[in-house]
Amino acid sequence: MNSIFDYVLFHFQRLYHLPSPLEISYGLDGRSRVQVTRTTSTFFERQQAKPVQTVWKEWHGSNLTLFFDESPDQPWFTQTEQGHVVVHYDLVASAFYLLSGWQEFYGPERDSFGRYPYKASQQARHRFITKPLVNYYLDILREAVALAYGQEILPRSWNGKPFATCLTHDVDFCQSAWKVAGKPALKKGNLGVFLKLAQQKLRGQDAWFNLPQVERELKQLHAKGTFFFLPEAAPYEGHPNADYDVSAPEIQNEIKRLAAAGHEIGLHGSHGTGTNARKLQAERAKLPANVKGNRFHYLRFDPVKTPALLAELNLLYDSTLGFPEHYGFRNSYCHPFRLFNFRERQMLPVWEVPLNLMDVTLHHPYYLQLPSAEVMPAVTPMLEEIIRFGGVFTLLWHNENFSDYGLEEGKSIFQEITRFLQNRQTCFLTAGEVIGLTE
Ligand SMILES: [Zn+2]
Repeated sequence: MNSIFDYVLFHFQRLYHLPSPLEISYGLDGRSRVQVTRTTSTFFERQQAKPVQTVWKEWHGSNLTLFFDESPDQPWFTQTEQGHVVVHYDLVASAFYLLSGWQEFYGPERDSFGRYPYKASQQARHRFITKPLVNYYLDILREAVALAYGQEILPRSWNGKPFATCLTHDVDFCQSAWKVAGKPALKKGNLGVFLKLAQQKLRGQDAWFNLPQVERELKQLHAKGTFFFLPEAAPYEGHPNADYDVSAPEIQNEIKRLAAAGHEIGLHGSHGTGTNARKLQAERAKLPANVKGNRFHYLRFDPVKTPALLAELNLLYDSTLGFPEHYGFRNSYCHPFRLFNFRERQMLPVWEVPLNLMDVTLHHPYYLQLPSAEVMPAVTPMLEEIIRFGGVFTLLWHNENFSDYGLEEGKSIFQEITRFLQNRQTCFLTAGEVIGLTE
Protein backbone atom coordinates (compact mmCIF):
# COMPACT_ATOMS: atom_id res chain seq x y z
CA MET A 1 0.00 0.00 0.00
CA ASN A 2 2.95 2.38 0.45
CA SER A 3 3.48 2.53 -3.28
CA ILE A 4 -0.03 3.96 -3.53
CA PHE A 5 0.74 6.73 -1.06
CA ASP A 6 4.16 7.43 -2.63
CA TYR A 7 2.59 7.71 -6.06
CA VAL A 8 -0.03 10.23 -4.96
CA LEU A 9 2.44 12.19 -2.82
CA PHE A 10 4.89 12.41 -5.73
CA HIS A 11 2.26 14.19 -7.82
CA PHE A 12 1.01 16.35 -4.93
CA GLN A 13 4.54 17.66 -4.45
CA ARG A 14 4.77 18.70 -8.08
CA LEU A 15 1.60 20.77 -7.97
CA TYR A 16 2.29 23.11 -5.07
CA HIS A 17 4.99 24.94 -3.18
CA LEU A 18 4.70 22.77 -0.08
CA PRO A 19 6.47 23.11 3.27
CA SER A 20 9.63 21.08 3.47
CA PRO A 21 9.86 18.63 5.09
CA LEU A 22 6.20 17.83 4.71
CA GLU A 23 4.86 15.83 7.63
CA ILE A 24 1.97 13.79 6.31
CA SER A 25 0.92 10.25 7.16
CA TYR A 26 -1.30 7.80 5.37
CA GLY A 27 -3.30 6.34 8.21
CA LEU A 28 -3.92 8.09 11.52
CA ASP A 29 -0.61 7.84 13.38
CA GLY A 30 -1.55 10.34 16.10
CA ARG A 31 1.58 12.47 15.63
CA SER A 32 2.03 13.74 12.05
CA ARG A 33 0.92 17.30 11.32
CA VAL A 34 -1.37 16.04 8.56
CA GLN A 35 -2.96 12.60 8.80
CA VAL A 36 -5.08 11.08 6.05
CA THR A 37 -7.62 8.39 6.90
CA ARG A 38 -6.77 5.11 5.22
CA THR A 39 -9.46 2.78 4.00
CA THR A 40 -9.82 -0.65 5.58
CA SER A 41 -11.04 -1.97 2.23
CA THR A 42 -8.99 -4.74 0.65
CA PHE A 43 -9.97 -3.53 -2.80
CA PHE A 44 -6.41 -3.08 -4.07
CA GLU A 45 -5.36 -6.52 -2.83
CA ARG A 46 -8.30 -8.19 -4.52
CA GLN A 47 -7.48 -6.52 -7.84
CA GLN A 48 -11.05 -5.74 -8.78
CA ALA A 49 -11.64 -3.22 -11.55
CA LYS A 50 -14.54 -1.33 -10.06
CA PRO A 51 -15.09 -0.06 -6.53
CA VAL A 52 -18.31 -1.36 -4.99
CA GLN A 53 -19.42 1.79 -3.23
CA THR A 54 -19.34 5.44 -4.09
CA VAL A 55 -20.33 8.43 -2.02
CA TRP A 56 -20.64 12.06 -3.04
CA LYS A 57 -19.50 15.01 -1.02
CA GLU A 58 -19.42 18.71 -1.72
CA TRP A 59 -16.22 20.77 -1.96
CA HIS A 60 -16.57 24.51 -2.66
CA GLY A 61 -19.76 24.01 -4.63
CA SER A 62 -18.66 20.92 -6.57
CA ASN A 63 -20.01 17.48 -5.89
CA LEU A 64 -17.09 15.03 -5.73
CA THR A 65 -17.24 11.27 -6.11
CA LEU A 66 -15.30 9.23 -3.54
CA PHE A 67 -14.67 5.53 -3.99
CA PHE A 68 -13.34 4.28 -0.69
CA ASP A 69 -15.44 5.98 1.97
CA GLU A 70 -18.66 4.83 3.53
CA SER A 71 -20.55 8.02 4.28
CA PRO A 72 -20.18 11.72 3.54
CA ASP A 73 -21.30 12.86 7.01
CA GLN A 74 -18.02 14.05 8.51
CA PRO A 75 -16.29 17.29 7.56
CA TRP A 76 -13.44 16.93 5.05
CA PHE A 77 -10.90 17.54 7.79
CA THR A 78 -10.69 18.77 11.36
CA GLN A 79 -7.90 20.09 13.57
CA THR A 80 -7.02 18.45 16.88
CA GLU A 81 -6.09 20.27 20.06
CA GLN A 82 -2.42 19.62 19.30
CA GLY A 83 -2.85 21.35 15.93
CA HIS A 84 -2.74 18.18 13.87
CA VAL A 85 -5.09 18.11 10.90
CA VAL A 86 -6.98 14.88 10.31
CA VAL A 87 -8.46 14.29 6.85
CA HIS A 88 -11.51 12.07 7.32
CA TYR A 89 -11.65 10.62 3.80
CA ASP A 90 -9.28 8.37 1.94
CA LEU A 91 -8.39 10.84 -0.77
CA VAL A 92 -5.19 8.93 -1.43
CA ALA A 93 -6.98 5.73 -2.47
CA SER A 94 -9.47 7.55 -4.70
CA ALA A 95 -6.69 9.62 -6.29
CA PHE A 96 -4.54 6.56 -6.90
CA TYR A 97 -7.43 4.60 -8.37
CA LEU A 98 -8.16 7.24 -11.02
CA LEU A 99 -4.69 8.59 -11.74
CA SER A 100 -2.92 5.26 -12.14
CA GLY A 101 -5.54 3.97 -14.61
CA TRP A 102 -6.38 1.06 -12.33
CA GLN A 103 -9.80 0.47 -13.91
CA GLU A 104 -8.20 0.09 -17.34
CA PHE A 105 -5.53 -2.37 -16.26
CA TYR A 106 -7.89 -4.61 -14.28
CA GLY A 107 -11.01 -4.10 -16.40
CA PRO A 108 -11.57 -6.62 -19.24
CA GLU A 109 -13.37 -4.20 -21.60
CA ARG A 110 -11.68 -3.39 -24.93
CA ASP A 111 -12.90 -2.01 -28.27
CA SER A 112 -11.96 -3.36 -31.69
CA PHE A 113 -8.64 -1.44 -31.55
CA GLY A 114 -7.74 -2.90 -28.15
CA ARG A 115 -8.54 0.39 -26.45
CA TYR A 116 -10.28 0.79 -23.13
CA PRO A 117 -13.73 2.16 -24.02
CA TYR A 118 -15.04 5.36 -22.49
CA LYS A 119 -18.42 3.77 -21.81
CA ALA A 120 -16.84 1.22 -19.45
CA SER A 121 -15.24 3.91 -17.31
CA GLN A 122 -16.22 5.37 -13.95
CA GLN A 123 -15.94 8.76 -15.69
CA ALA A 124 -18.83 7.80 -17.99
CA ARG A 125 -20.81 6.01 -15.32
CA HIS A 126 -20.70 8.88 -12.84
CA ARG A 127 -20.42 11.63 -15.47
CA PHE A 128 -17.23 13.29 -14.36
CA ILE A 129 -15.16 13.08 -17.56
CA THR A 130 -14.82 16.88 -17.65
CA LYS A 131 -14.01 17.18 -13.97
CA PRO A 132 -10.40 16.49 -12.90
CA LEU A 133 -11.33 14.78 -9.64
CA VAL A 134 -7.73 14.02 -8.68
CA ASN A 135 -6.97 17.75 -8.77
CA TYR A 136 -9.94 18.32 -6.47
CA TYR A 137 -8.72 15.68 -4.01
CA LEU A 138 -5.26 17.23 -3.98
CA ASP A 139 -6.80 20.68 -3.51
CA ILE A 140 -8.47 19.39 -0.33
CA LEU A 141 -5.13 18.03 0.84
CA ARG A 142 -3.55 21.40 0.07
CA GLU A 143 -6.05 23.15 2.34
CA ALA A 144 -5.43 20.57 5.06
CA VAL A 145 -1.68 21.23 4.83
CA ALA A 146 -2.29 25.01 4.82
CA LEU A 147 -4.31 24.72 8.03
CA ALA A 148 -1.78 22.45 9.73
CA TYR A 149 1.19 24.68 8.85
CA GLY A 150 -0.66 28.00 9.17
CA GLN A 151 0.50 29.19 5.78
CA GLU A 152 -0.89 29.65 2.32
CA ILE A 153 0.09 26.96 -0.18
CA LEU A 154 0.49 28.31 -3.69
CA PRO A 155 0.37 26.36 -6.95
CA ARG A 156 3.40 26.23 -9.20
CA SER A 157 3.20 28.40 -12.29
CA TRP A 158 4.20 27.88 -15.92
CA ASN A 159 6.98 30.37 -16.62
CA GLY A 160 4.99 32.87 -14.61
CA LYS A 161 1.71 32.14 -16.43
CA PRO A 162 -1.27 30.52 -14.68
CA PHE A 163 -1.76 27.50 -16.93
CA ALA A 164 -0.20 25.86 -19.97
CA THR A 165 -1.36 24.79 -23.40
CA CYS A 166 0.29 22.10 -25.46
CA LEU A 167 -0.66 22.25 -29.14
CA THR A 168 0.01 18.97 -30.91
CA HIS A 169 -0.36 17.77 -34.47
CA ASP A 170 -0.36 14.13 -35.53
CA VAL A 171 0.81 13.98 -39.13
CA ASP A 172 -1.10 11.09 -40.72
CA PHE A 173 -1.87 12.60 -44.10
CA CYS A 174 0.30 14.78 -46.32
CA GLN A 175 -0.34 13.50 -49.79
CA SER A 176 -3.85 12.24 -50.26
CA ALA A 177 -6.28 15.17 -50.12
CA TRP A 178 -6.81 14.81 -53.87
CA LYS A 179 -7.99 11.25 -53.27
CA VAL A 180 -9.58 11.25 -49.81
CA ALA A 181 -11.31 14.63 -50.16
CA GLY A 182 -11.34 14.89 -53.97
CA LYS A 183 -13.08 11.67 -54.88
CA PRO A 184 -16.13 12.23 -52.63
CA ALA A 185 -16.37 15.77 -54.10
CA LEU A 186 -16.37 14.29 -57.58
CA LYS A 187 -19.06 11.82 -56.56
CA LYS A 188 -21.20 14.70 -55.34
CA GLY A 189 -20.78 16.26 -58.77
CA ASN A 190 -18.31 18.90 -57.59
CA LEU A 191 -15.87 18.60 -60.47
CA GLY A 192 -14.25 21.96 -59.69
CA VAL A 193 -13.05 20.85 -56.25
CA PHE A 194 -11.73 17.58 -57.60
CA LEU A 195 -9.82 19.29 -60.41
CA LYS A 196 -8.32 21.87 -58.08
CA LEU A 197 -7.09 19.17 -55.68
CA ALA A 198 -5.78 17.04 -58.54
CA GLN A 199 -3.89 19.97 -60.02
CA GLN A 200 -2.32 20.82 -56.67
CA LYS A 201 -1.27 17.19 -56.33
CA LEU A 202 0.26 17.16 -59.81
CA ARG A 203 2.26 20.27 -58.93
CA GLY A 204 3.66 18.28 -55.99
CA GLN A 205 1.67 20.33 -53.44
CA ASP A 206 -1.21 18.21 -52.21
CA ALA A 207 -3.70 20.31 -50.18
CA TRP A 208 -2.69 18.30 -47.10
CA PHE A 209 1.02 18.95 -47.63
CA ASN A 210 0.34 21.97 -45.48
CA LEU A 211 2.66 22.00 -42.48
CA PRO A 212 3.79 25.57 -43.28
CA GLN A 213 0.13 26.55 -42.92
CA VAL A 214 0.05 24.95 -39.44
CA GLU A 215 3.26 26.78 -38.62
CA ARG A 216 1.74 30.11 -39.62
CA GLU A 217 -1.17 29.52 -37.25
CA LEU A 218 1.24 28.72 -34.43
CA LYS A 219 3.33 31.76 -35.20
CA GLN A 220 0.33 34.05 -34.77
CA LEU A 221 -0.03 32.63 -31.27
CA HIS A 222 3.71 32.89 -30.57
CA ALA A 223 3.50 29.16 -29.90
CA LYS A 224 5.70 26.20 -30.73
CA GLY A 225 3.92 22.98 -31.62
CA THR A 226 4.62 19.29 -31.13
CA PHE A 227 4.43 17.34 -34.40
CA PHE A 228 4.09 13.56 -34.20
CA PHE A 229 5.29 11.89 -37.41
CA LEU A 230 4.08 8.42 -38.42
CA PRO A 231 6.99 6.34 -39.77
CA GLU A 232 4.88 3.48 -41.14
CA ALA A 233 3.06 3.73 -44.46
CA ALA A 234 1.84 0.16 -44.91
CA PRO A 235 -1.75 -0.43 -43.76
CA TYR A 236 -2.22 -2.72 -40.76
CA GLU A 237 -5.06 -5.23 -40.74
CA GLY A 238 -6.88 -3.06 -43.24
CA HIS A 239 -6.40 0.16 -41.26
CA PRO A 240 -4.44 3.04 -42.78
CA ASN A 241 -1.14 4.30 -41.45
CA ALA A 242 0.72 7.26 -43.00
CA ASP A 243 -0.02 8.29 -46.59
CA TYR A 244 3.66 9.28 -46.89
CA ASP A 245 7.12 7.76 -46.56
CA VAL A 246 8.83 9.42 -43.63
CA SER A 247 12.27 8.91 -45.19
CA ALA A 248 11.31 10.73 -48.42
CA PRO A 249 13.35 13.92 -48.91
CA GLU A 250 10.30 16.20 -48.98
CA ILE A 251 9.14 14.88 -45.58
CA GLN A 252 12.64 14.97 -44.11
CA ASN A 253 12.84 18.62 -45.21
CA GLU A 254 9.62 19.35 -43.33
CA ILE A 255 10.93 17.67 -40.19
CA LYS A 256 14.20 19.60 -40.38
CA ARG A 257 12.48 22.91 -41.02
CA LEU A 258 10.03 22.44 -38.13
CA ALA A 259 12.80 21.42 -35.73
CA ALA A 260 14.99 24.36 -36.79
CA ALA A 261 12.08 26.71 -36.09
CA GLY A 262 11.87 25.41 -32.50
CA HIS A 263 8.95 23.02 -32.86
CA GLU A 264 9.20 19.59 -31.27
CA ILE A 265 9.25 16.39 -33.30
CA GLY A 266 7.66 13.30 -31.77
CA LEU A 267 6.95 9.73 -32.77
CA HIS A 268 3.47 8.67 -33.86
CA GLY A 269 3.58 4.94 -33.19
CA SER A 270 1.65 3.09 -35.91
CA HIS A 271 -1.09 0.48 -35.49
CA GLY A 272 0.13 -2.42 -33.39
CA THR A 273 3.20 -0.71 -31.91
CA GLY A 274 1.48 -0.22 -28.55
CA THR A 275 2.13 -3.91 -27.94
CA ASN A 276 5.28 -4.37 -30.03
CA ALA A 277 8.39 -2.74 -28.61
CA ARG A 278 10.66 -3.85 -31.43
CA LYS A 279 8.46 -2.29 -34.06
CA LEU A 280 8.05 0.92 -32.10
CA GLN A 281 11.82 1.13 -31.70
CA ALA A 282 12.32 0.58 -35.44
CA GLU A 283 9.89 3.40 -36.16
CA ARG A 284 11.61 5.68 -33.71
CA ALA A 285 14.92 5.00 -35.46
CA LYS A 286 13.50 6.60 -38.60
CA LEU A 287 13.11 9.94 -36.81
CA PRO A 288 15.76 12.34 -35.46
CA ALA A 289 17.77 10.88 -32.58
CA ASN A 290 16.54 13.47 -30.07
CA VAL A 291 12.89 12.41 -30.31
CA LYS A 292 11.71 11.88 -26.74
CA GLY A 293 7.97 11.46 -26.89
CA ASN A 294 5.26 9.42 -28.53
CA ARG A 295 1.58 9.38 -29.27
CA PHE A 296 -0.05 6.28 -30.74
CA HIS A 297 -1.98 6.47 -34.00
CA TYR A 298 -5.72 6.01 -33.33
CA LEU A 299 -4.81 6.48 -29.65
CA ARG A 300 -4.07 2.75 -29.48
CA PHE A 301 -2.74 2.53 -25.93
CA ASP A 302 -2.92 -0.96 -24.45
CA PRO A 303 -3.51 -0.47 -20.70
CA VAL A 304 -1.75 -3.74 -19.82
CA LYS A 305 1.26 -3.74 -22.12
CA THR A 306 1.97 -0.20 -23.27
CA PRO A 307 3.27 1.50 -20.08
CA ALA A 308 6.15 -0.95 -19.58
CA LEU A 309 6.90 -0.90 -23.31
CA LEU A 310 7.32 2.88 -23.29
CA ALA A 311 9.66 2.56 -20.33
CA GLU A 312 11.64 -0.15 -22.11
CA LEU A 313 12.26 2.30 -24.95
CA ASN A 314 13.36 4.99 -22.49
CA LEU A 315 10.87 7.46 -23.84
CA LEU A 316 10.45 10.57 -21.74
CA TYR A 317 6.76 10.95 -22.36
CA ASP A 318 3.63 9.65 -24.04
CA SER A 319 0.62 11.77 -24.95
CA THR A 320 -2.02 9.23 -25.93
CA LEU A 321 -4.28 9.10 -22.88
CA GLY A 322 -7.52 10.75 -23.78
CA PHE A 323 -10.69 8.94 -24.75
CA PRO A 324 -11.35 9.19 -28.48
CA GLU A 325 -15.08 9.13 -27.71
CA HIS A 326 -15.11 12.13 -25.39
CA TYR A 327 -12.96 15.14 -24.53
CA GLY A 328 -11.95 15.61 -20.91
CA PHE A 329 -9.77 13.93 -18.32
CA ARG A 330 -9.27 10.22 -18.86
CA ASN A 331 -7.21 9.89 -15.67
CA SER A 332 -9.17 12.66 -13.95
CA TYR A 333 -6.10 14.88 -13.77
CA CYS A 334 -5.20 18.04 -15.66
CA HIS A 335 -1.42 17.84 -15.16
CA PRO A 336 1.25 15.51 -16.51
CA PHE A 337 1.68 12.35 -14.46
CA ARG A 338 3.96 9.33 -14.34
CA LEU A 339 2.61 6.03 -15.64
CA PHE A 340 2.23 3.16 -13.20
CA ASN A 341 3.46 -0.40 -13.52
CA PHE A 342 0.82 -2.59 -11.89
CA ARG A 343 2.79 -5.84 -12.08
CA GLU A 344 5.76 -4.37 -10.22
CA ARG A 345 3.55 -2.07 -8.17
CA GLN A 346 5.71 0.95 -8.86
CA MET A 347 5.78 4.23 -10.67
CA LEU A 348 7.45 4.21 -14.08
CA PRO A 349 9.88 6.89 -15.25
CA VAL A 350 7.67 7.64 -18.29
CA TRP A 351 5.51 10.75 -18.11
CA GLU A 352 2.05 11.04 -19.57
CA VAL A 353 0.93 14.37 -21.03
CA PRO A 354 -2.77 13.54 -21.05
CA LEU A 355 -4.69 14.42 -24.18
CA ASN A 356 -7.78 16.52 -23.47
CA LEU A 357 -9.28 17.23 -26.86
CA MET A 358 -8.83 15.71 -30.28
CA ASP A 359 -10.43 17.20 -33.39
CA VAL A 360 -11.70 13.76 -34.49
CA THR A 361 -13.76 13.45 -31.28
CA LEU A 362 -15.80 16.46 -32.32
CA HIS A 363 -16.91 15.33 -35.74
CA HIS A 364 -16.31 11.61 -36.37
CA PRO A 365 -19.56 9.72 -37.04
CA TYR A 366 -18.80 7.35 -34.14
CA TYR A 367 -18.15 10.17 -31.69
CA LEU A 368 -19.81 13.49 -30.80
CA GLN A 369 -20.74 15.05 -34.16
CA LEU A 370 -20.95 18.53 -32.71
CA PRO A 371 -21.89 21.38 -35.06
CA SER A 372 -19.01 23.87 -35.11
CA ALA A 373 -21.00 26.55 -33.28
CA GLU A 374 -21.46 24.16 -30.37
CA VAL A 375 -17.79 23.28 -29.89
CA MET A 376 -16.75 26.23 -27.73
CA PRO A 377 -19.78 26.08 -25.41
CA ALA A 378 -19.18 22.32 -25.03
CA VAL A 379 -15.48 22.46 -24.20
CA THR A 380 -15.37 25.67 -22.17
CA PRO A 381 -16.28 24.06 -18.81
CA MET A 382 -13.35 21.64 -19.28
CA LEU A 383 -11.01 24.53 -20.10
CA GLU A 384 -12.23 26.40 -17.02
CA GLU A 385 -11.30 23.41 -14.85
CA ILE A 386 -7.77 23.42 -16.28
CA ILE A 387 -7.47 27.14 -15.64
CA ARG A 388 -8.86 26.74 -12.11
CA PHE A 389 -6.18 24.19 -11.23
CA GLY A 390 -3.34 25.75 -13.23
CA GLY A 391 -3.01 22.62 -15.35
CA VAL A 392 -2.11 21.82 -18.93
CA PHE A 393 -4.52 21.74 -21.83
CA THR A 394 -3.36 19.37 -24.57
CA LEU A 395 -5.03 19.72 -27.93
CA LEU A 396 -4.63 17.47 -30.97
CA TRP A 397 -5.43 19.15 -34.27
CA HIS A 398 -4.47 17.15 -37.36
CA ASN A 399 -2.79 19.13 -40.14
CA GLU A 400 -5.50 18.26 -42.66
CA ASN A 401 -8.04 20.06 -40.48
CA PHE A 402 -6.27 23.36 -41.13
CA SER A 403 -6.94 22.94 -44.85
CA ASP A 404 -10.21 23.58 -46.66
CA TYR A 405 -10.57 19.84 -47.22
CA GLY A 406 -10.70 18.41 -43.71
CA LEU A 407 -13.02 19.06 -40.80
CA GLU A 408 -15.53 21.72 -41.82
CA GLU A 409 -14.45 25.06 -40.38
CA GLY A 410 -11.53 23.17 -38.80
CA LYS A 411 -9.17 26.12 -38.91
CA SER A 412 -11.65 28.57 -37.44
CA ILE A 413 -12.56 26.19 -34.59
CA PHE A 414 -8.83 25.85 -33.82
CA GLN A 415 -8.52 29.63 -33.84
CA GLU A 416 -11.54 30.07 -31.61
CA ILE A 417 -10.20 27.64 -29.02
CA THR A 418 -6.66 29.02 -29.05
CA ARG A 419 -7.81 32.67 -28.92
CA PHE A 420 -9.79 31.83 -25.80
CA LEU A 421 -6.66 30.33 -24.22
CA GLN A 422 -4.51 33.26 -25.27
CA ASN A 423 -6.98 35.73 -23.74
CA ARG A 424 -6.72 33.80 -20.50
CA GLN A 425 -2.94 34.24 -20.46
CA THR A 426 -1.89 30.69 -21.18
CA CYS A 427 1.73 29.66 -21.61
CA PHE A 428 2.14 27.73 -24.87
CA LEU A 429 4.65 24.90 -24.48
CA THR A 430 5.74 21.84 -26.39
CA ALA A 431 5.12 18.48 -24.70
CA GLY A 432 8.81 18.14 -23.82
CA GLU A 433 8.82 21.62 -22.28
CA VAL A 434 5.75 20.72 -20.20
CA ILE A 435 7.66 17.79 -18.74
CA GLY A 436 10.76 19.92 -18.21
CA LEU A 437 8.74 22.28 -16.02
CA THR A 438 6.99 19.45 -14.13
CA GLU A 439 9.86 17.09 -13.28
ZN1 LIG B 1 -2.74 9.23 -36.34
